[in-house]
Amino acid sequence: MPNSRKRIVVLGGGSGGVVAATKLGLELGARHNVMLVDRRPDHVFMPAFLFMMVGERRPEQITRKLKRLEKRNVKVLQDEVLGIDPAGQQVSLGGGNLPYDYLIVSLGLQTAPELVPGFAEAAHHAWEMDAALRVRSALESFNGGRVVVGVPLGPYRCPPAPYEAQWMIDNYFKRRGIRDRVSIEFFTRDPEPAGEARDPLVWMDAESKRRGIKIHYDFAVQSIDPAKKTVNGLYNYKLNYDLLFMVPPHRPAKALIDCGLADTETGVRVDYDTLETKWENVYAIGDCADMPASKAGGVAHQEADVVAHNLAVKITGRGEPVPLQLHTI
Ligand SMILES: Cc1cc2nc3c(=O)[nH]c(=O)nc-3n(C[C@H](O)[C@H](O)[C@H](O)COP(=O)(O)OP(=O)(O)OC[C@H]3O[C@@H](n4cnc5c(N)ncnc54)[C@H](O)[C@@H]3O)c2cc1C
Repeated sequence: MPNSRKRIVVLGGGSGGVVAATKLGLELGARHNVMLVDRRPDHVFMPAFLFMMVGERRPEQITRKLKRLEKRNVKVLQDEVLGIDPAGQQVSLGGGNLPYDYLIVSLGLQTAPELVPGFAEAAHHAWEMDAALRVRSALESFNGGRVVVGVPLGPYRCPPAPYEAQWMIDNYFKRRGIRDRVSIEFFTRDPEPAGEARDPLVWMDAESKRRGIKIHYDFAVQSIDPAKKTVNGLYNYKLNYDLLFMVPPHRPAKALIDCGLADTETGVRVDYDTLETKWENVYAIGDCADMPASKAGGVAHQEADVVAHNLAVKITGRGEPVPLQLHTI
């Protein structure tokens, strides 16, 4: 029945969830119930964590109340998502069960520092709000030595961000006038890029070298030794550091693993064109979807736009569905 009232639940108030809920609220109006659930009261704009770590943004400048979506026909619930019951068409929340007709899952990835022994004691990072604020203090009290920036094995939010991070650290020490006392090195599991200068990886490699940053390719980090201040890689490669800045490993939200929706360490298997999951009327978008694309806000935004629009067409019977054509690096 195209005209009956539907309950559309969006899980996650990050980049994907906010865009999907906003579009559904606008396209469906008050004729259907659009709900968004997040454990936090605020949307947090994570790309700005890098600016926070060098003192160029404050937390209140990069957060917005999710309740603001209520002006756009979206009911916002602050609660913990514990699981999904596809047979009963309901989400299990800390405060009870929430039934749905359609479900869009955009729970992102969560950091999993415990997967690298020594990480929690030794490494700084900017992949969470609190951690980014701690980097800021660590940089402020650093007066010279070896800064090592690196990435883990497996998926993580925004693959280009560690390059941006090393360049921002370079700029930061130049501004403080002590760049000549700081060496910056970068390790990555990727092989050394080759190809045309316009290839993003070739360009980023050249930019780091231009800034005097030494890059260690094919470095597969295994553990960190906080006492010896070494990062230990596969085949006994070691890197010494005075200040370590490393992206933590990431994994899908525990709730998605526990309920069986997330199939792989990179997330929920989806149809690459429609973002439908193995469960009927359940879609996954953004970082939690196992797509052949970067885990990036730009990708989450494009997926959210398409899934929300096509769902509105399906529910109302009005308009035409649009294809997903991702633009990403
Ligand atoms: C340092 C950094 C720099 C970045 N730079 C860029 C950039 O320049 N360009 C770009 O495109 N992307 C960038 N990104 C990546 C971008 O932020 C993410 O890809 C994007 O936020 C993914 O959106 P999402 O909706 O999939 O997940 P998220 O934005 O992670 O949102 C997930 C939401 O789900 C909530 N949640 C999770 N689990 C639960 C639960 N069990 N119960 C209730 N709520 C839950 C979380 O609180 C969160 O609000 C960057 C990320 C970082 C960390």
